[in-house]
Amino acid sequence: MNNASFKYPDQAAYELVTAQLAAKNITYKDIAVITKELQKQYLPDVPLSEFEAETQDVLHKREVMNNVMVALELDRLATAHELKEPLESIICNDAGVFGVDEGLALNIANIYGTIGVTNYGYVDKVKEGIIKRLDEEKGDEVNTFIDDIIGAIAAAVAAKMAHKYA
Ligand code: MG
Repeated sequence: MNNASFKYPDQAAYELVTAQLAAKNITYKDIAVITKELQKQYLPDVPLSEFEAETQDVLHKREVMNNVMVALELDRLATAHELKEPLESIICNDAGVFGVDEGLALNIANIYGTIGVTNYGYVDKVKEGIIKRLDEEKGDEVNTFIDDIIGAIAAAVAAKMAHKYA
């Protein structure tokens, strides 16, 4: 099972992450808008296009992609009713005390240090833009992980930008 010559499939991972986000109608720009808002008092003159480019860069990072892939697969499996009980019901109902969604999000935010973590906590509380849409979307789609993941990516980009301009 464990092949010592396994080469990490970064490009395939990136393609999966891109497809997972597209399936939820989420663009780099949607994420960049959240980050720009987070950084507006510090970086008011940096154009949205630069936040968008940094979002793409963050999404190419292996540790980020790993957490995004796992999180979004769990939303997809829950939507397809392919998880075992009680995990299926826990994720479908976005149970507040579950916490694994926030845990994976924190893995992403942590990569960029304390600025990433504090910004994730903030976006998780205020839930703006696309995060609000995903959090409130009531339909057949399970969005338990995606809202936290988007918040964490936005927070990671905010931290990256803060360090870049420090
Ligand atoms: Mg959640």
